[in-house]
Amino acid sequence: MPWYQKLHWRIIIGLVLGLIYGVIASYFHWQSFTFNWISPWGEIFIRLLKMIAVPLVITSLATGVASLSDVKKLSRIGGKTIGIYIGTTAVAVTIGLLLVNLLQPGAGVPEDLKNSLQKTYQSTVDAKTSLAKETKKRRPLQPLVDMVPANITEAAASNRNMLQVVFLSIVFGIALIQISSKSSKPVVDLLKTLNEVVLHTVDVIMVFAPIGVFALLANTIVTVAGDDLSKVIELISALGFYCFVVVLGLTIHSFIVFPILLKFFTPMKLTTFLKGIAPVQLLAFSTSSSGATLPLTMERCEKNLGVSEEVASFVLPLGSTINMDGTALYQAVAAVFISQALGLELSLGAQLTIVFTAVLASIGTAAVPGAGIIMLVVILEAIGVPSSGIALILGVDRILDMLRTVTNVTGDATVSILIASGENQLGKPHVADKDEPHVRYKR
Ligand code: ASP
Repeated sequence: MPWYQKLHWRIIIGLVLGLIYGVIASYFHWQSFTFNWISPWGEIFIRLLKMIAVPLVITSLATGVASLSDVKKLSRIGGKTIGIYIGTTAVAVTIGLLLVNLLQPGAGVPEDLKNSLQKTYQSTVDAKTSLAKETKKRRPLQPLVDMVPANITEAAASNRNMLQVVFLSIVFGIALIQISSKSSKPVVDLLKTLNEVVLHTVDVIMVFAPIGVFALLANTIVTVAGDDLSKVIELISALGFYCFVVVLGLTIHSFIVFPILLKFFTPMKLTTFLKGIAPVQLLAFSTSSSGATLPLTMERCEKNLGVSEEVASFVLPLGSTINMDGTALYQAVAAVFISQALGLELSLGAQLTIVFTAVLASIGTAAVPGAGIIMLVVILEAIGVPSSGIALILGVDRILDMLRTVTNVTGDATVSILIASGENQLGKPHVADKDEPHVRYKR
C-alpha cells in the first residue's frame, strides 16, 4: 500500500493542510467563509464518530462479557483497571508538580500581561466559574448514582452517559451468560454480527478523516486567532514557558512512563505500539476529545495491537470517561503556575491537595474539548487560589487541550494492553491498515 493511503499519513496530510489554510484564512480575514463552508465538515466528522460510539460500546461489551466463562473474572479485571488508572494518573500529577516547582514558569510573568489577560478573559472566567460551582454542589456518591441508568434509551441518548451505557451492557452481558446457552446463542450471534458491522462502519468513517481533520484544524486556528494572528503568536510567546512545562510533562508521561510500563509488564514492542496508536493520537490531537476518538481507539487496540475484545470493550470506554492523565498533569501545572504568577506560596499540604483533587477532577472531567479547565476551577478553590486566575491561561488552553487529549488516549490504550497481557488475552499485534487482513485476539 502506498504511504499516503496509510491512515496516519492521511490524517497528517489533513492536519498540515488545515494548519496552512487556517493561517491564510486568519491573515485574509476569511472567518465567515470558514465558519459557513469549512467548519461544518469538521462537525459532521465528529458527529459520525460520536454516532458510532454508543453502538460500538454496547455491541463489543455485551459480546465481550457474554463470552466470559465466569463473572468473577469481570470484577477482577474491573478492580485492576481502576487501580491502574488511578495509579498512572497520580504519577502524571506528580510529574507535573515536580516540573512546575522546579522550573517555576509563573515566577516571571510581567504585571501588565497579567492585567491585560485578566481583562480580556473576564467574561469567560465567569462562565467557567459558574459551571464549576454546579459541579461542586454534587453529593460525594453522586458519580455512583449517575452511573446507573434509569432508562435504557435515556442512557444511550447522550454520549456523556457513556458510563451508563457501560453499566447497561455489562448487566445485559451477565444475564446472557446466566440464561441457558441455547436461548442466548441467537442473541449473542446477532450481537457479534452487529459488532462486525459497527467496526466496519468505523473504517468507512475514517475514509473521511483527512477532510474532517482539515476542517477541524482550520476552524480551530481561525477561532483562536480571531482576525489577528499576531495576537496568538504574542500570547504563545508570553506564556511560552508555561506551555513548555505542560508539553514537557505530557511528553515524559506519554513517551517515557507509558513505554516503561509496556516494556516491563507486557511483550509489546515500543515501535509496534507507536505504529498502532499513531492514528489514534493524531485523531485525539485534531478533535481534542477522547470521547470522539473512542471508536478508533477501540478499533486500533483490538485489530492492530492484539487486545482481546473482552478487555478492550471494557477498559477503553471506561478509560475515555475516567482516565485522563494528560488532563490531570496539565491541571497540576496550571494550578501551581497560576499561584506562582499571583505571588501565592503553596504549602506542601496544598500541593498534596492538588494531587488528590487533580486525580479526582480528571475522573470527573468530561471527554470533550475544554472540559479540563472547568475542573481546574474546582482545584484552585480547593487550594485557596482565586479562580479568576484561569484568565492567565485561557488564551493558550485550546492548544494545550489538543496535546493533553493525546496523552489521555495513549494512557487508555496502554492500560488496555497492560490488562490484556496480565489476563493472557493479548494476541499477536498486527500493524495493519485498511484492506489488509486484521488479526483479532481469539480465545
Ligand atoms: N479534551 C480532553 C479530553 O477529551 C479533556 C480536557 O482535558 O479538557 O480528553
